[in-house]
Amino acid sequence: MPRHTVHLAVELALLPPLLGAAHRLGLRQELLPLALGYLAGSLLLSPDLDLYHSRPARRWRLLRLLWWPYARLFRHRGLSHHPLLGPLSRLLYLALWALLAWALVGLPRAQPPPPALLLPFLGGLLLPQTLHVLLDRL
Ligand SMILES: [Zn+2]
Repeated sequence: MPRHTVHLAVELALLPPLLGAAHRLGLRQELLPLALGYLAGSLLLSPDLDLYHSRPARRWRLLRLLWWPYARLFRHRGLSHHPLLGPLSRLLYLALWALLAWALVGLPRAQPPPPALLLPFLGGLLLPQTLHVLLDRL
């Protein structure tokens, strides 16, 4: 199983060719949300958030505390490392925190992004997490 630095190096090395391929496919408007989603998926929503002391968890700084219950709920390389259920679990987990914050302090209601931008963002979010899982299984 690769170390975190290997995961990050491979994930970040594949971002430029991915963006190049998307550009060649004519997905020009989608490049920015794809790149942002990819970086968020690689740097902030790694499957290794199931380890409270992991580098991805520490990137959250003080907000790392939000991931402590997640790390307690999900054993390392369990469901959190499933290619689809893992990212879904982290997105739903963050949505629960956002809902709690909204209920407690009444955060302003944000406009949902248009689906044309949301889909490439979600795709970008999913790709490095899937790559992480594949590398862990090698
Ligand atoms: Zn992992």
